Amino acid sequence: MISVKDAFETILNHVTVLPYETCVLGKATSRTLRHPVSTDHDLPPYNRIMMDGIAARSEAFIGGDQVRLKIIGLQSAGSLRKELTNTFDCFEVATGAVLPLGADVVIPVEEISISENYATVSEAFKLTPGRYIHRKGSDRSKGEVLLPEGIRLGAKEIAVAASCGYNELKVAACPSVAIISTGDELVDIDKVPMPHQIRRSNSHSLAAALLSSGLGIPNLSHFVDDASKVRDGLLHVLQTAQIITLCGGVSKGRLDHLPRALEAVGVIKHFHWVAQRPGKPFLFGTGPSGQPVFALPGNPLSALTCFHRYVIPALEKMAGRKHKLIMKLPLQEPYSFKPQLTNFLPIEINNGVLGSEVKPHPAGNSGDFAGILNTDGFIELPAEGTDYRKGLTLPFWPWL
Ligand code: AMP
Ligand code: MG
Repeated sequence: MISVKDAFETILNHVTVLPYETCVLGKATSRTLRHPVSTDHDLPPYNRIMMDGIAARSEAFIGGDQVRLKIIGLQSAGSLRKELTNTFDCFEVATGAVLPLGADVVIPVEEISISENYATVSEAFKLTPGRYIHRKGSDRSKGEVLLPEGIRLGAKEIAVAASCGYNELKVAACPSVAIISTGDELVDIDKVPMPHQIRRSNSHSLAAALLSSGLGIPNLSHFVDDASKVRDGLLHVLQTAQIITLCGGVSKGRLDHLPRALEAVGVIKHFHWVAQRPGKPFLFGTGPSGQPVFALPGNPLSALTCFHRYVIPALEKMAGRKHKLIMKLPLQEPYSFKPQLTNFLPIEINNGVLGSEVKPHPAGNSGDFAGILNTDGFIELPAEGTDYRKGLTLPFWPWL
């Protein structure tokens, strides 16, 4: 039996970075950026007014008397920059407009009263130079790299790419990921199962995790527990999918055909059985053209946990996605786990006195997928320990 650490390393050593493809910005959410994005202009590109009000010349305030200014026009957002030459003139201005040439102060609308084209500034108003003016280039300069290669494109990254004029982006190719359930007891979700059957849920939960990661396109299918049908199915899927995820049929039961069938179709096995709970029967191999093949145990919790712990990180590497920090969170209460196995323990994050801490929600068994509904993810308890003290910080893997 291989350790979690060795299993993980073996997988990463057998996956390589996929090529990139071009994607329109509107479809790039959650994809992996494969080139740096730099700004084609200063940010902001002009002295931007940050308040509705008036823009004036500070010299108008030198005398200290109440200031009354003649409004000579409107500098609206999107209008060409106007010029202010006379000391006691001003422009009405809008948030987002260019600061008029010659103006150096902005007085918010709340601080003025307007009548007959004159603006009187309230006596209480304190002039602060530069206030309400977002200076050209003060955020970033033209040419600066704003987004490095290898990041996941979320809303804030899409905002930056849009503002820098990237109508298209180079992103990691989104591979087709076969997600195959196995088992004669499983029926489609639109069927009413007979008393000895259940609906297949794993394929859908793994597909959901995959879709929210943005790392692949799920392609769902099913194998019945028949050795030759499993072999035929595998031969077909090896020709069509870039990544293969199977669940169920990988343990020691009489009808667990996958280990032998995978060997028969030329999948090279790199390991079978990992010192972990849940998910001990996990098998990893590579197909004839190097496709990674993840055969996950069928128990819903085992399949989902292994998918998060191994398959998603492998897909991240294939996408060229930069390794993200694995957060460590402290235990809210002591916890014991005696077997010499790495334990992936479902947890709920709570607010403690010093910050976030995790409350264990051990699953009754790895078939209890309803038991993790109130959990946020799982922590990884190392195989070496048996008693884990309150406050011990442990790696946390969030559910996708
Ligand atoms: P196996 O790994 O095939 O021995 O399956 C272990 C357990 O997981 C059995 O109780 C199966 O019925 C269940 N199981 C296997 N595949 C699925 C699936 N796709 N959805 C829900 N339960 C499953
Ligand atoms: Mg089965």
